[in-house]
Amino acid sequence: MASFEELLGRWDGERTVIHRDRDSDSWIFVCLHSTALGPAAGGTRLKTYDTPADGLRDAMRLSAGMTTKLAVAGLPFGGGKAVLAVPEIPQGEARRDLFRRYGDLVASLGGSFFTSSDVNTGSEDMDVIGERTEHVFGRSEQSGGGGNPGPHTAVGVYYGIRASLAHAFGSDDPSGRTVLVQGAGNVGAALASLLRDAGARVLAADVDEARAAAVGDEVVAADAVYDSDCDVYAPCALGATLNAGTIARLRCRIVAGSANNQLEEPADAERLRAREILYAPDYVINAGGAIALFGLEHEGWQQSQLDASLARIGETLREIYESADREGTTTADAADRLAAVRISAAR
Ligand code: NAD
Repeated sequence: MASFEELLGRWDGERTVIHRDRDSDSWIFVCLHSTALGPAAGGTRLKTYDTPADGLRDAMRLSAGMTTKLAVAGLPFGGGKAVLAVPEIPQGEARRDLFRRYGDLVASLGGSFFTSSDVNTGSEDMDVIGERTEHVFGRSEQSGGGGNPGPHTAVGVYYGIRASLAHAFGSDDPSGRTVLVQGAGNVGAALASLLRDAGARVLAADVDEARAAAVGDEVVAADAVYDSDCDVYAPCALGATLNAGTIARLRCRIVAGSANNQLEEPADAERLRAREILYAPDYVINAGGAIALFGLEHEGWQQSQLDASLARIGETLREIYESADREGTTTADAADRLAAVRISAAR
């Protein structure tokens, strides 16, 4: 098990803030992985860990992912992430107090770090942070924020699916295509509705079958997803659904959905390519929520500017697919390369 010293010694990021919050017996880690493209930005995760070092490692890993994600999204931000490693998930006034103290910590970073919600945090917590600093995205609409990013993420995924259809089939028209949406939650339900409006047949799967039934033309059992015929498999539930076992079973031409960290390991990108399944890199296609919060809260975008920016996710994917074909690499590699080019150009 690596210690703080070992983790800090081998990290390639710019700055780490380690704060002990005695009142709640918690550790707070803020990792600024890169500020090459702008202030570091990333969500705040509230979680219990076996050891404080596990929380630091999570913040480091996630902040590096944000550098790549935000660079490909074309936003003027670098990658960051914060973890509040708590002994148990706090509620009520204790929770609000913790987020106020954390808000003071974010404020003390002077605009070098902007945060938003992540696992176990939401717009109410961002409202509390917003009492102490303006460097926060994702506050509730009542507090002047952009509210729930899920529907914007769904619009970005919808454009990403259209670009993927165009690349795989020569037409981006969803009409008559079959899309299997796994996870009929915040993003999946909105995505299913956009696809059905465009004439696609939507198969929906959810561990809560009533949710799937409410959004799909047909329900697929949650454990039958990988064996179901479809044009597009859209993972919108949980991560790591693409691995050696599931990829061998897939009966789709495209994987394009919102879930984070869809590949269980990097080699899964090559496994998909070997099966000629077009993979929309997760962090590219699911950036719509981040793009929307930035535009609505930071730039004061109108609806037309938001629409154009979300549509650009499709254009970015087209570029990535063409680059992967040209270079004979996976789409995941092509996306990482695009991020690296943008970051080094800024440096
Ligand atoms: P959500 O919690 O609202 O919905 C997830 C749904 O998946 C739920 O209905 C749940 O019952 C279902 N589910 C859980 N396990 C399942 C399984 N094994 N099989 C089928 N269904 C299952 O979450 P969300 O906000 O819609 O996000 C979905 C995914 O997209 C998550 O991986 C999230 O990290 C990612 N994501 C979301 C956003 C956003 O803006 N909300 C942005 C980027 C990425």
